[in-house]
Amino acid sequence: MAVLEILKYPHSLLKKRSKEIDQIDGDVKKLIHDMMETMYDANGIGLAACQVGVPKRMIVVDVRPIDPKQSLFAMINPEVISEEGEIDHEEGCLSVPNCLEKVKRKEKIHVRGLSLEGKELEVFAEGILAFALQHEIDHLNGVLILDRISRLKREMYRKKLKKEKQKEERD
Ligand SMILES: [Zn+2]
Repeated sequence: MAVLEILKYPHSLLKKRSKEIDQIDGDVKKLIHDMMETMYDANGIGLAACQVGVPKRMIVVDVRPIDPKQSLFAMINPEVISEEGEIDHEEGCLSVPNCLEKVKRKEKIHVRGLSLEGKELEVFAEGILAFALQHEIDHLNGVLILDRISRLKREMYRKKLKKEKQKEERD
């Protein structure tokens, strides 16, 4: 297993829609395991393949730091079957450093996809698991939390990023 580099905004791959996976081969399995290691290394609770430079529809999720009843799992080609309710949830993103913003999320979702073994996997989620799944599925559609906040806040983040970059270049 290996810790992979996590792409950061404004990397172009983060804006692309990821492609469906039609075969769960050794490469897919290896990548999933590397994604798990990368997620833990970065203290994240979820990661999408595009965040490590592979624009394919697979995610790993482990929300146990917040909800210990849950477990680690990978999902291939996840699809939202139904959703219900709406709530503001404050979240960050490993690809959008130093940004913690309230975004609109569904309270409950029903997601269907495939497990690493190719079996159908169904998740009925609420709370942090529902938010994490929505966040990661957003990644597969090229959507970042920055796309879900106001234009003003997005501009503020861009300015902050620019300043940090200039400072780095000076140092
Ligand atoms: Zn993210």
